[in-house]
Amino acid sequence: MIGRLPIRWRLTLWYGAVLAAVLTIFAATVDLLMARVLRHGTDQGLDHQVAVIEEQILQMREPVALRERLALLFHRHPAFEMQVTENDDRAWLRSEGVEKQGLPRPAVLPETPGEGVHEDVEVPGVGPCRMCSKVIETPYAFLLVQTAASTDANRKHLGELRRVFLATGPILLVAALGCGYLLARKGLAPVERMAAEADQITASRLDRRLAAPNPDDELGRLARTLNGMIARLELSFGDVQRFTADAAHELRTPLAVLRGEAEVTLLSDREPAEYRRALESMLEEIEHLTRLTEDLLSLSREDAQIPPSFEDLRLDEVVRDAFGTMTAVAAEVDRRLVLAGELAPCLVRGDRERLRRVVVNLIDNALKYTRAGGLVQVSLALRGDEAVMTVADDGDGIPPEHLPMIFKRFYRVDASRPRWGSSTGLGLPICRTVVLSHGGTIDVQSAPGAGTRVEVVLAARPAGPPRREEPAASWRSRPSYLGNG
Ligand code: ADP
Repeated sequence: MIGRLPIRWRLTLWYGAVLAAVLTIFAATVDLLMARVLRHGTDQGLDHQVAVIEEQILQMREPVALRERLALLFHRHPAFEMQVTENDDRAWLRSEGVEKQGLPRPAVLPETPGEGVHEDVEVPGVGPCRMCSKVIETPYAFLLVQTAASTDANRKHLGELRRVFLATGPILLVAALGCGYLLARKGLAPVERMAAEADQITASRLDRRLAAPNPDDELGRLARTLNGMIARLELSFGDVQRFTADAAHELRTPLAVLRGEAEVTLLSDREPAEYRRALESMLEEIEHLTRLTEDLLSLSREDAQIPPSFEDLRLDEVVRDAFGTMTAVAAEVDRRLVLAGELAPCLVRGDRERLRRVVVNLIDNALKYTRAGGLVQVSLALRGDEAVMTVADDGDGIPPEHLPMIFKRFYRVDASRPRWGSSTGLGLPICRTVVLSHGGTIDVQSAPGAGTRVEVVLAARPAGPPRREEPAASWRSRPSYLGNG
């Protein structure tokens, strides 16, 4: 219930609860101290009276004169009840208030002369009292001297104090709650302002930032964090917009070519051979479009970060599988595709289809940017706890100024056109995204004319010799994540 209240109300209520607790403890402490101070004052008065009586007893040896002197003393101090008792429990002298019943015997009778004993007692006819009892040694007997004073006045003082607390406590609490609410509202006003500003930040206004009155306080830090998040959103949003624009542009070109070819072909009646040529050319564009859309789909799936279905898999089997697929392509386009040595049996944790796609893409690139008769070598080795997969060709190579850019989406090296097939500029970005999502690295070394070598490194551990049987049905039977890639 309280959790649903606005923060300023919650702060005020907490503040009120803490203040009420502090005020209660304060009042209880003052009450206790006051009671103690009052009792101490009364005890001092009683001690003084006992001392005066003791002095008289010790000064005057003659009993009759002593009795008269004490009676006068008792009479002069009506606020105290006093009594002198002989050791045989016979009351020798009492003040008027306790003339009949006398003062009660002390709970602990002081046996020998010494300190007076103080206690709370109920004196018949007087009420609750504080009493001091002391034994005095005289030459003829031990005397018990007792003085008592009513605690009524003390109780009255304490009662008044409690009434003051009870009257002022709630007023103080309400005043403090009001101040607390105002302070909480003032303190949280910048949050309201920031919320209003944040409301203004929409997809089309991501260049806006939140202002913070004090950059070093908590709200300043919050504003910095939110601004950092908005800046990252702005960047990603820009990336998405650029990607969408580039993708639209890439799709528009082959569509325009298709449309142009269709229109030109339809301008006049043509020979069947001409129609055939036109259709073949259009088919090429359609194949390029198909590949482009497949690549776009792959990238958008990678970007959407669909939870990967990782499993322990034999990387050597994945490489062999991709190698097998591409051997047929290599033969078709007259390139030599070979394994550089035995593929090291190793286990990695990953997604089989996506890793296979990486190997296929890299071999595809190597075959595309190598002249006819060129050599493409694939290898897989274990280096410590890492698997190192390389695809090396002796083809065109990449000029050094282009190397830093080749992982950017839609980036193609101007000078190098694929010698067969089509180029989308998305192959390497897909490879990089997949490898990074597997916690690995991908690196390209290349020089014009000296060929290209791409190295993929993944965390791995050794496995037994390659299995002969078909890979488990579980991944074969799963719907393909990358389409027919
Ligand atoms: P695509 O191959 O579809 O154009 P990629 O992203 O795979 O797209 O490659 C980007 C660019 O990098 C290619 O256009 C090409 O210029 C260059 N490239 C990639 N691999 C090689 C290679 N093995 N040899 C030479 N150039 C390459």
